[in-house]
Amino acid sequence: MPSPPEASTTTVPVALGDRSYDVFVAEGGWDALPARLDAALRRTWAGKSCRKALIITDSNVAALAYPGLTRDALAAIGIDATAAVVPAGEASKSLDVAATLFEKLVAMAADRHALVVPVGGGVMGDLGGFVAATFARGLPLFMVPTTLLSQVDSAVGGKVGVNLPKVKNIVGAFHQPVAVWIDVATNGDLPDRELRCGLAEVVKYGVILDAPFFEELEADADAILARRPDRLRRIVARSCELKADVVSKDEREQTGLRAVLNFGHTIGHGVEATAGYGGAFQHGEAVAVGMVAESRLAERLGWVDAAFTERLVRLLARFGLPTSLSGLDPAAILESMGRDKKNKGGRVRLVLPRRMGHVELTDAPSADDLRSLLEDLCR
Ligand code: NAD
Repeated sequence: MPSPPEASTTTVPVALGDRSYDVFVAEGGWDALPARLDAALRRTWAGKSCRKALIITDSNVAALAYPGLTRDALAAIGIDATAAVVPAGEASKSLDVAATLFEKLVAMAADRHALVVPVGGGVMGDLGGFVAATFARGLPLFMVPTTLLSQVDSAVGGKVGVNLPKVKNIVGAFHQPVAVWIDVATNGDLPDRELRCGLAEVVKYGVILDAPFFEELEADADAILARRPDRLRRIVARSCELKADVVSKDEREQTGLRAVLNFGHTIGHGVEATAGYGGAFQHGEAVAVGMVAESRLAERLGWVDAAFTERLVRLLARFGLPTSLSGLDPAAILESMGRDKKNKGGRVRLVLPRRMGHVELTDAPSADDLRSLLEDLCR
């Protein structure tokens, strides 16, 4: 397979001082991956000393056999790779599975320069990233996200972690990768529902930061749904740029800027928890209904008009995403929102739209406002 011409790879820089890195968004061209990886490693503290790698993937992705991560390909840049395959699914994002990977690194006699390479969706990225952040107090990490959701969201930004049996994402760290390699062609293998979940996050970027991007999504919806590689590369690269910009200004969620990424997630998390994880609403679907509900709340505050929400509903529905909370239990959603980590002084804080491309973090809605909104929307 020939190397991809530069024209078919978009490079998105993530500016974080001495932890800066590039996100490569390519259409195919896996044979270029080892050279990109080698160059990225040489720019970091892991440098030329990296001789071993642990490639972590799940059972579904292993069956797809992506070519650039074979042992031979990494051997060509002097890296001896070992593969670990864990069961596909959220249950693998656990301390138990992480422990099996730590043991694997010990068995490989991994030193502090050993590389961790998660290949797969957000579950692999979060799990592999957590292993990289904690083994020997931090190993270099090279992310290879293969779902739309992980390409536009979880692989960029440095948040890694695992779940406890009753609490999601509660044990983790900030650990930035040395680089991220995305082949948008992997989305060709994705089940429709997984593609839709990624599109919910893509729509979110338009609403929170980039009105022209939202318009572009409206205009290109058919080509995106047909998974046209050039359109996928464009939306993945733009989403990564927007996220990279936020992360570079507020890497550790200290100034409140990174909170804009939570639009749709406050009510969305409540919906996900109420419907049961892995149940009726997958994460992206819960974010879609959460964005609609939060937009309706902004309407009640007089921040946006009904036409704004209708436009959002039309695009989400065009992408096959749910937009209604009908039938859910409003009290249960409210209770779970009360545990949101953005809350302060007992008040629920939400990110709400002011206009297309601009959102603000606010605690303006009272508990009564929220209750009455959810009671109306869940009818
Ligand atoms: P996932 O990793 O479970 O992948 C979804 C499914 O798609 C899995 O069955 C997987 O095996 C399969 N798959 C992966 N690549 C495929 C491909 N190319 N073709 C066909 N099937 C493929 O889930 P996800 O939706 O990618 O990510 C969700 C996870 O990401 C959650 O655990 C969530 O908490 C986490 N997340 C993390 C962040 C962050 O900032 N760290 C942000 C958002 C989400």
